[in-house]
Order: sequence, then C-alpha cells, then structure tokens
Amino acid sequence: MPAPDLDAIVSLAKRRGFVFPSAEIYGGFANAYDYGPLGVELKRNIREAWWRALVRERDDVVGLDAAMLTNPEVWVASGHTETFHDPLVDCRACRRRFRPDHIEEGQYGEAARDDEGRWRCPNCGGELTEPRLFNLMFRTEVGAVAGEGATAYLPPETAQGMFVNFKGVKDAMRRKLPFGIAQARVSFRNEITPGRFVFRTLEFEQMEMEYFCRPESAAGWHRYWIDERLRWYEEVIGIDPARLRVRAHEPEELSHYSAGTSDIEYRFPWGWGELEGIANRTDYDLRAHAEHSGQDLSYFDEETGERFTPYVIEPAAGLTRTLAVAMLEAYAVEPDENGRDRTVLRFPAAIAPVKVAVLPLSKKPALTPMARRVHQLIRPFWMTQYDETQSIGRRYRRQDEIGTPLCVTVDFATLEDEAVTIRERDSQAQTRVPIAGLVDALAERLPGVR
Ligand code: ATP
Repeated sequence: MPAPDLDAIVSLAKRRGFVFPSAEIYGGFANAYDYGPLGVELKRNIREAWWRALVRERDDVVGLDAAMLTNPEVWVASGHTETFHDPLVDCRACRRRFRPDHIEEGQYGEAARDDEGRWRCPNCGGELTEPRLFNLMFRTEVGAVAGEGATAYLPPETAQGMFVNFKGVKDAMRRKLPFGIAQARVSFRNEITPGRFVFRTLEFEQMEMEYFCRPESAAGWHRYWIDERLRWYEEVIGIDPARLRVRAHEPEELSHYSAGTSDIEYRFPWGWGELEGIANRTDYDLRAHAEHSGQDLSYFDEETGERFTPYVIEPAAGLTRTLAVAMLEAYAVEPDENGRDRTVLRFPAAIAPVKVAVLPLSKKPALTPMARRVHQLIRPFWMTQYDETQSIGRRYRRQDEIGTPLCVTVDFATLEDEAVTIRERDSQAQTRVPIAGLVDALAERLPGVR
C-alpha cells in the first residue's frame, strides 16, 4: 500500500481533532502545533508503548524524569553551548534564513544558482550571505528580577538528564552494567527549517534511553538496539518494513561524541527522513561531566576489580515524528460495507486514541439508559467514546476515520435479549454478544490492550 500524501493527513488531523496549527486564531506560529483531544491520546499511547517496551518489560532499564530548567553547566559540559550549531545563510533581500544543506536537498523547493554556481534564495531568488553558525538552544532567565537572573536553557534533548543522574540512579537502584536509563519528555530547538507538519517543530517530544555498558561490549549492544528498535516500529507502530531502513552515518556526518551512529529512517512522502538515531556515544558524556563537575562518574566492577568509565549506546527517538508516521501508515481509503468509500485509520489497537465506541442505534429515549449502562460497563477498561448523533452509518464512518478498532451497537432488540453487536473496524464484521459477556468479548479482540 503506498503511503498517502501529507495533505490528506494534515487535513484529517485538523478536522478530527488530532493536531491543530498552534494558535490558529492568531494566524498560527511557524513550526508549532497543538495536540487536540485525539492527538493527545495517540501521543500518550505511543509514549506508553515505548515505555512498556523499554522500561516495564525489561529488567535492565529504569525510568527518569529530570528537570528541564537546570544548571547551565550541564550544557557547557555536554558541548551544547559550544557546538550545537547549524550553519545558516540569510537572504540579503527578503531576510529569510536557511540551512545550506537543505537548500541543496530541495527541502525549500527548487532553488536556482547564480553564474558562479552559488545558491540563490529559494524564496525570492535574492543573494545569500556566507554561512554563519547559529545556536539551536533557547535561552531564558531564572530569577525574579529581569537582567539579574542566571541564564538557563530549554533542553534541546533529554540525554543529559541521564548522564548527570548516572551515579544517583546506579547507587539508588543498585545497578550493575549493563543497564539503561530512559526518559520521554519535551525538547526544544530553535529550528528554522520550514517544518512539514509535526516532522520538525520548535518544541517536540523525544523518547531516549542511555544504555551503559562495558567498552568492549558497546559495538554488540549497538547492533542489538538497532534491531530492537526497528522491530518496535514494525510490530508496535505497525510500519510497513518496505518504508523503513537503517542508514549508518558516514564518518564526516558523525556527531563529535559518536563512534558510530545509525539512523532508523522512514520513507516520508517527500523522501527518506530520520525517525530515530542510535549512537555509540562512547564514554564521552560521562567523562565530560566527570571532568567538568569534578565528581567521580566511573564504575567499579566488583567481579573483575576494574574501574572504568562505561560506554553508552543511545537510541534517541522522536515521539511527535513517530505520531505523524503512525497516521501516515494507518491511513487508507477503501470501500465500506455498502461499497462506498470510507477513510480509515488502521492503527494497531494499542495506539488507537479510542478503543471502543458505544453507539445506540438511534437517539430514541427508549435506548439511552441501556446504551449508557453498556458504556459504564466498559469504561473502566478502555478509552471509550459515546456517540448518538446522526445515522449509524455516519457514526461508523466517523469512528473508522479516527481509527477506533471496535464499535458496540445497542439496538431495540437489546432491550429484549440483553445482547449487543460488536462491529470490527478492519473486517467490518459484526457479531452479536450477550452484555454479560461483553467485556470478555472485547478483551478477546483487544489482546494486551489497555
Ligand atoms: P534531524 O537531522 O532531523 O534534525 P537530529 O539528528 O538532529 O534530527 P537527534 O538529535 O538524533 O535528531 O534527535 C533524535 C530524534 O528526535 C530524531 O530522530 C527525531 O525523531 C526527533 N527530533 C529531532 N529534532 C526534532 C524536531 N525539531 N522536531 C521533531 N522531532 C525532532
């Protein structure tokens, strides 16, 4: 099945309350989006699926939630105040700012060159400045009096929280190598590249894990985490493997801290783009923080009697980017039970925003108490929706369009036989089940889904 074009997703996302352009009543804000009632559920479900796979279902990884505004020395030690730059060019005519590599890649659309082969502004054709470095971190001030406070930074990644808490977590949780610390949280980057939907935004959520291990085992763990994460995208998010690939960075592309990075990439409608970077960060970060803080962040191996600084493998994923991909992958237009076109989001049930919709056949008052009773019965188990407006056909379409795997229909026969109809999103099959067995029947169709 080919991936749909982005416009279909952006329009559905807005129409059905997944993702809105931020502050649209004021004309929006570049590279910022607001997550609506269904988007917030989808995002939470993806985050939880990640947390389950990395933390809850493993013995060797624990969680963390570190402060966002923290001691600015963290960003000095990590190299972010020095090196977290993108080279940028400005247009002398229209004053827009661009990343030269993205002009070349055509990310701003077709751009022309001048007689000497230099790129012209993709917006107005004007002359561009020489590239200058531009720091991607947002700065703010901590303290009551403007101008007198300490400068603090909004975190551009979550990883440093795991490094500065390495010793605290290791000691508190009595951890031995190898072990990981995971965190899912908002990050901020002063991105100037025009974003495509939530692919690149100023504020975005990341899901990162730092896996500390012995230096000689790092290469093996690197391969292990690439395989694990690839499997997660296929099995949990439901991505077609034909649209996933692993791309190893060229030596000149590697970050200053990395001994090897492989990206998991997705074939977006506009080409391959990164979903997750999996880096072998060596002992760079722990050493940098140890030197900068003067604290001992080494590890003592009781079995071998050695003391050393652990290596780190980091799978760093974008939650909001994954949300866009989950929508792209789930989207389909196909015939409904009457042969008319229906739009359907075939989300894996675990990430679907709503799991079960309760739909009385009509709005007739005689059905309402029974339908409400059925709704109350299943509410404690799954995210539900109750909908009694418009025809049953239109309500099925609405639920298909937001990806609800199951609908439960209460009709007039229910009042006599205490049975309801379960309708499945994908097969559109309908089965009559007694209310007494409804929770079990739904659980059977939603294995492992909460
Ligand atoms: P890119 O090259 O696309 O800017 P990156 O290599 O800078 O990404 P990392 O620092 O490796 O990204 O961050 C890990 C993940 O966080 C990325 O794979 C991506 O999914 C996500 N991410 C990074 N920047 C953004 C952003 N501005 N908006 C949304 N997601 C982002």
